[in-house]
Amino acid sequence: MATQRQIFFSHQAQTTDFPLAIEMRSALGNYIEDINGKRYLDLISGISVSNIGHRHPHVVDAIKRQVDTHMHLLVYGEFIQAPQTRLAEKLISLVPPSLSSVYFVNSGSEALEGAVKLAKRATGRPDIIHFDKSYHGSSQGALSLIGDEHFSERYRPLVPGVKKLTYNSIPDLHQIDHRTAAVVIEPVQGEAGYVPATREFLEAVRKRCDQTGALLIFDEIQTGIGRTGKFLALEHYGVVPDILLLAKGLGGGMPIGAFLASKELMDNFKENPLLGHITTFGGHPVSAAAALATLEVLENEDLLSSVQMKEALFHERLLHEEIHKIRGKGLMLSVQMKSFEFLKKVIDRCLEKGLITDWFLFNDSSMRIAPPLTITIDEIHHACDVILSSIEEVHLSE
Ligand code: PMP
Repeated sequence: MATQRQIFFSHQAQTTDFPLAIEMRSALGNYIEDINGKRYLDLISGISVSNIGHRHPHVVDAIKRQVDTHMHLLVYGEFIQAPQTRLAEKLISLVPPSLSSVYFVNSGSEALEGAVKLAKRATGRPDIIHFDKSYHGSSQGALSLIGDEHFSERYRPLVPGVKKLTYNSIPDLHQIDHRTAAVVIEPVQGEAGYVPATREFLEAVRKRCDQTGALLIFDEIQTGIGRTGKFLALEHYGVVPDILLLAKGLGGGMPIGAFLASKELMDNFKENPLLGHITTFGGHPVSAAAALATLEVLENEDLLSSVQMKEALFHERLLHEEIHKIRGKGLMLSVQMKSFEFLKKVIDRCLEKGLITDWFLFNDSSMRIAPPLTITIDEIHHACDVILSSIEEVHLSE
């Protein structure tokens, strides 16, 4: 009989020749366990998903209760379903008041798609602005906005009218003009290696959008749901977008995404043509129940209040001559080393010692640190011990 490993490699589509390929069995809290019973401290949260840890009991309970009530009933937006309305009410209480209407989708990419469509429909304009090293998803629309053409050029033709500007460069912003439907930006760029926008830059983007009538879309798919120590990264900046994208951590481990805008803006989907965005499973009741429970956990356990202190502890502990720089905001940190080869050896050693880290799509010499916000002080010390001893071993072996 074929092993799961054999099936994985022969029948499950592969996207690289070097997947981690550890056969996992279960997960709880800040740990994932493999089939041999080896426990791994999860320092990346499934890429900023498990912000409240894996299988939080409140989320598991909400999922079970919802499964016993109803699952899918009808395509999005027809029936009134309490898991969705309760989640909408809660979400809207946590974001700037102008973002009063929420459209639930399945993923980050779909949130991006819906938002860009809405911007085109509302403005009647053809162009979209994005930034170098941006990542907004892998569907054709989202891929058109990827900040490194290496990943998109073999998939052309893509969506036309896309213009790429330099992140954090205010002089570039004059290229936002009266043809621009939307400017899509991550307040802290994820796959670039956790590069925060400067306050002046985000303010200038907002100002230029206001001058030209372009809509501002914040992609908080990775930065949202408490990752930076605030519910949304935009709270660090005091800049409010016209459309906000959420996904990843929103479902507490279940798939759900959302884009939020004013009711007035969102109403564009209702006419000429009606059904401006359609999704079968968007806001699935089980995912919506999980998301509401996730937001309750974030609040009830006061998870945001310790993020800054935990961030500071990583900065304090991660000192080594091979660590060139630490970037990021909150529990969204990137540890810059000298090369991919060096980092690869460090990451492999960390894995051997039961610590899951990762690198970034556009920065393969930086280590990704984005643990569940529930990580404890002791676990941070342990993670830093493992990272430092791994760096030292690789350093000495050179
Ligand atoms: N935007 C950002 C900033 C992301 O980090 C990601 C996922 N890495 C996406 C969009 C796409 O989300 P999804 O994979 O759920 O489509």
